[in-house]
Amino acid sequence: MKTTDNGSGSGDVRLTGISKTYGSFTAVHPLDLTVPQGSFFALLGASGCGKTTTLRMIAGLEEPSSGTVHLGDQDVTVLPPYKRPVNTVFQSYALFPHLDIFENVAFGLRRRGIKSVKKQVEEMLELVQLGEQARKKPHQLSGGQQQRVAVARALINHPKVLLLDEPLGALDLKLRRQMQLELKRIQTEVGITFVHVTHDQEEAMTMADTVAVMNAGRVEQLGSPADLYENPQTTFVANFLGTSNLIEAEVDTRSGDDIVLKAGGGKLVLPGARCSAPAATGGKVLVGVRPEKITLSHADDAGEIPEGRNRITGKIANSSFIGVSTQYVIDSTVCPEFEVYAQNIERDARLVPGADVVLHWSPAHTFGLDAAQD
Ligand code: ATP
Repeated sequence: MKTTDNGSGSGDVRLTGISKTYGSFTAVHPLDLTVPQGSFFALLGASGCGKTTTLRMIAGLEEPSSGTVHLGDQDVTVLPPYKRPVNTVFQSYALFPHLDIFENVAFGLRRRGIKSVKKQVEEMLELVQLGEQARKKPHQLSGGQQQRVAVARALINHPKVLLLDEPLGALDLKLRRQMQLELKRIQTEVGITFVHVTHDQEEAMTMADTVAVMNAGRVEQLGSPADLYENPQTTFVANFLGTSNLIEAEVDTRSGDDIVLKAGGGKLVLPGARCSAPAATGGKVLVGVRPEKITLSHADDAGEIPEGRNRITGKIANSSFIGVSTQYVIDSTVCPEFEVYAQNIERDARLVPGADVVLHWSPAHTFGLDAAQD
């Protein structure tokens, strides 16, 4: 079910030089951002980074200190919220407790003076899979069901853009995961632009086509979930999205498209295209690798590790069996007091605390960050 005719570009969100200051405090630094029509876009960041303020400026609930907001071809910067083709779903569902579910969803239509609402409301309740619950009151529904009513109510007036401000924050983990898939399904079905604010990286990665990682009022990096995870450009992004092992290294030389780095007594190789740091000889680079890309070998088996893999040595500090894998904490000799997390699917009885090990991984799974940033 498509809720709008979605003329070309009609649901693009374009922010140009948008910023927000409160007195001398800058909540959002000047920001340029385009959200393409029909995409699921997430603003992701820790509490206080400015994501809600950015969303509220799109909604018209907050006046920008500078810059413009365009929705499609329309400059809406000075339009009040109710004149913008957007609607917002908040964490607090804000349903009317005395109205049943049908009337909660019908509210926006009735307010516009539309008399025959039955077909539209029923379609919307089907979309959010609450057709059976139409005559119940909000308190008779679960948290997830109430949130779906809030989504249906926000979609009934066919906004071009739906803004979602931590909509799943009040739900427990299991329900939150169900609702992530549910929201993604609804967005695909209605085909309008969703802009979703969350501090939960798993939530952003599960649902969004594009994620903007925000930090201290700025977008640190923008990309697909896979791109952000595999090619983080800053230590903040590397650490905010999953676990990163970061090793201090020094640029030694270049070999074709690869950068060769010195780390402790050994060498690490990094594809030049995956290094966001200036990589002049002698420069410092933080070399990163995700835990699941690492293989752990007992030091006695070091001779069997194929040539060309990055490797560092260490000692197992502790290990925890977590079902399909075992998580190891390694004290690395490359970097004193630096711990590396690695996971092994095949369990080797010799890999116990105190064992000397070699961690190795493909250079293709290595990324490089500017050691001088932050
Ligand atoms: P959270 O997830 O906690 O909502 P957020 O990333 O959405 O965080 P914002 O709500 O956008 O953050 O707030 C960004 C910064 O601006 C915060 O430091 C906040 O204290 C500040 N701020 C927000 N609204 C106001 C206001 N009306 N007056 C002064 N400072 C404000």
